[in-house]
Amino acid sequence: MLRLAGLLSALCVITYAQCPNIITRSQWGARRVNCLSAMKTPVPFVVIHHTEGAACTTRSACISQVKDIQSYHIDSRKWCDIGYSFLVGEDGNVYEGRGWNKVGAHALGGMNPKSIGISVIGSFSSRKPNLAALNAVKSLIRCGVSKGYVRSNYILKGHRNVTPTSCPGNTFYNLIKGWPQFKA
Ligand SMILES: [Zn+2]
Repeated sequence: MLRLAGLLSALCVITYAQCPNIITRSQWGARRVNCLSAMKTPVPFVVIHHTEGAACTTRSACISQVKDIQSYHIDSRKWCDIGYSFLVGEDGNVYEGRGWNKVGAHALGGMNPKSIGISVIGSFSSRKPNLAALNAVKSLIRCGVSKGYVRSNYILKGHRNVTPTSCPGNTFYNLIKGWPQFKA
């Protein structure tokens, strides 16, 4: 009985600390940037996006998307880096954008310094992201809470709730409306 209890508590610790696989900037070959706007954590909001571009289901295809998005945000939008905190592919991986500690450029209305912006790679107006991507998003949010970057009573929002935009796509938006702690 005692052994079982020990085993169960060990399992709980493992589950609690578990974070999704996060491909770091150096692993995906991010361009070096110089924007150091520190974020005050834990943040009270999580904002969900889609990239509104092509989807990807392999690590190499997702890396190519993430690189293109970083270059687009730097060269065309004139932001100092990729706008999102994290990107998630339908390969089930999370790709580090600005990460947990730096203010992003993903949502206007004063939301950037108060939120983690998670963008699923693809267009989700008429279909949901696949299960691998959805699980990675949920796991990333839990990970942020467990590591103290996101408040446990965080509010989940879609990009369209804070800025006039169709992001994160009608089908994906309808799905996240049913997720825990969502508030339009
Ligand atoms: Zn968006």
